[in-house]
Amino acid sequence: MGKLTQQLTNLNMQKQAISTKPIRSLEDALAQCQVLGMRVSRQRRFILELLWQANEHLSAREIYDRLNQQGKEIGHTSVYQNLEALSSQGIIECIERCDGRLYGNISDSHSHVNCIDTNQILDVHIELPEDFIRQVEQQTGVRITDYSINFYGYRNSRENSVNC
Ligand SMILES: [Zn+2]
Repeated sequence: MGKLTQQLTNLNMQKQAISTKPIRSLEDALAQCQVLGMRVSRQRRFILELLWQANEHLSAREIYDRLNQQGKEIGHTSVYQNLEALSSQGIIECIERCDGRLYGNISDSHSHVNCIDTNQILDVHIELPEDFIRQVEQQTGVRITDYSINFYGYRNSRENSVNC
């Protein structure tokens, strides 16, 4: 393959990666695996089903525990390997936290509400006003193409949480 052809192929691949439609359901996630040529093993399906049911961010350990509680037999290694494969292909979300990684079902860009008292992370889709983005661009000289906001707060009032 000539150099130019190779470059064009790379360009096309990039374009494809960008134009993939957002994953909005378990079915979309399974379809995306097929598009990417990933085998949908029983274990891989278990993990995707759980993340779409749970609708929250879970650690590999929690995913392992929950699946085994449901009577779905899956080994530790299989959980870790599948999470790695799914997140590296952009089918699931992976958040790096100081205490480890968490996985979620939504893979396209979104924002998070971090509950300080419950330690939960909730997904929200926030759209900033166009003016605001222009302002950030003017201040930094960077053309903004994507963003994700972290909100922090208490689910229960602080007085109530003392009793917990
Ligand atoms: Zn998330």
